[in-house]
Amino acid sequence: MSAENFRSPSFWHSTLDEPIVPRAPLEGDAQFDVAIVGAGYTGLWTAYYLNQREPGCRIAIVEADVAGFGASGRNGGWCAYYFSGIDALLADPDQRQSALALQRAMFDAVDEVGRASTAARIDCDYAKGGALVAGRTPPDLERLREEYEELIEFGFAEEDFRWLDADAFAERARIDGALGGLYSPHCAAIQPAKLACGLASFLEARGVRIFEQSPVHKIEKGVLTADRGRIRAENVLRCTEGYTCRLPGLKRAIMPLHSMMIATEPLPDSVWKEIGLHGRPTFADRRRSVTYGQRTADDRLTFGTRGHYYYGSGIRDYFDPDSAGFAHTRSALLELFPSLAEVEITHRWGGPIGVTRDWAPFVQFDPRTGLGAVGGYAGNGVAAANLAGRTLMELVLRETTERTSFAWVNHASRNWEPEPLRWLGFNAVLAMGQRADAAEQKGRDAGVCGRIFEAFVAH
Ligand SMILES: Cc1cc2nc3c(=O)[nH]c(=O)nc-3n(C[C@H](O)[C@H](O)[C@H](O)COP(=O)(O)OP(=O)(O)OC[C@H]3O[C@@H](n4cnc5c(N)ncnc54)[C@H](O)[C@@H]3O)c2cc1C
Repeated sequence: MSAENFRSPSFWHSTLDEPIVPRAPLEGDAQFDVAIVGAGYTGLWTAYYLNQREPGCRIAIVEADVAGFGASGRNGGWCAYYFSGIDALLADPDQRQSALALQRAMFDAVDEVGRASTAARIDCDYAKGGALVAGRTPPDLERLREEYEELIEFGFAEEDFRWLDADAFAERARIDGALGGLYSPHCAAIQPAKLACGLASFLEARGVRIFEQSPVHKIEKGVLTADRGRIRAENVLRCTEGYTCRLPGLKRAIMPLHSMMIATEPLPDSVWKEIGLHGRPTFADRRRSVTYGQRTADDRLTFGTRGHYYYGSGIRDYFDPDSAGFAHTRSALLELFPSLAEVEITHRWGGPIGVTRDWAPFVQFDPRTGLGAVGGYAGNGVAAANLAGRTLMELVLRETTERTSFAWVNHASRNWEPEPLRWLGFNAVLAMGQRADAAEQKGRDAGVCGRIFEAFVAH
């Protein structure tokens, strides 16, 4: 495949400085020490840290498409402290100390992405401007405030989480109707595809083999099998996130939920004077149906909303730009910044995030078989994949560290329900979240819809 016929799955891919030229596929039999399936951040960071620690370790990454083709090249670029399911861990007195250490490790992962990408000379537009979450209805504000107070109670400080009243919030971002909100400095905005592609090139230059256009269809102890080749390796690591359901026996392990994004044309100074976002903080509002945005290095707004599940764990990598999902995303952006009504939306894209049944991510490794697997970030994997990469590196090297003691190590979630229950149940819960949001926006009580949504979905 040449650069000409590689189809960009996102705005980020289509604005890379260099065109993507797919690498050669895996053909025939080969032997490595570590074989990794999937060249997203998880696979790439795992290879990165293994290579740093053991430069002699023979590492191969086998990728179905091209490095960064999945969520890692398409995401909202929030390199953030978020860790799906941390609230439950923090709330459990028996797990609290370890959960606090895990959360601090996530803060550090945000910085580590900056440090490591700088050391590898990867310019991924990293800007640590923090994250702003607005409460735009009284119930949203109350929920945010409760979350903030709980975090302070758990021992986090003002340097980690800061409460902003409406005026203080408006100094940073003028989001329409913001009554106040939460600010954390532990977030950087990045250009996601630049990071993924930069990591792949860096690793290749350091001797890591990357085979592309090579879907793996079987993973066993000591061997992975792709369409036209096979690798034998002492350690075989599955880093396939939203695509995991395509592998035999894993249909119900991780649900591919789609997140949809749009990008505006570059916006003039007059707009930025009006809406703020100086220093490129990422932004969101605290509705149930997740939103996320960033000001890019070239002064666009990118913005996303989450929540499309296709029957039978269907996965979409390309989308009709006229589909209703994008209209919804655009109208959510205009709710936050009504003055952008006339601004052109230049790009529309989406992709699958991976969600486990309990919304908890995992890093699994069995030292007896050498088989490992990581995933289930539930849309919060940009910084978490870096932490996962370091953790998996230590597990592969059979080391015991603080990182390998965290609750997600060898955590196992139960499977999702079979269809049609999965489709019916999950979409019903998502719809209830939207109804609850809509009710609260109109000043009504979210009622049972809100409670059901909160019982099933980790924010
Ligand atoms: C639109 C969108 C917005 C998001 N926004 C954010 C955000 O702002 N912040 C945040 O923290 N997270 C965000 N996420 C989630 C984040 O991008 C992911 O959690 C993270 O990138 C996961 O990295 P990964 O390497 O595990 O998976 P992926 O990047 O999905 O990589 C998996 C790779 O494995 C390959 N693969 C799969 N199956 C096989 C196979 N059988 N054989 C060979 N290769 C295979 C795929 O082609 C893919 O390249 C977003 C995701 C999406 C889709």
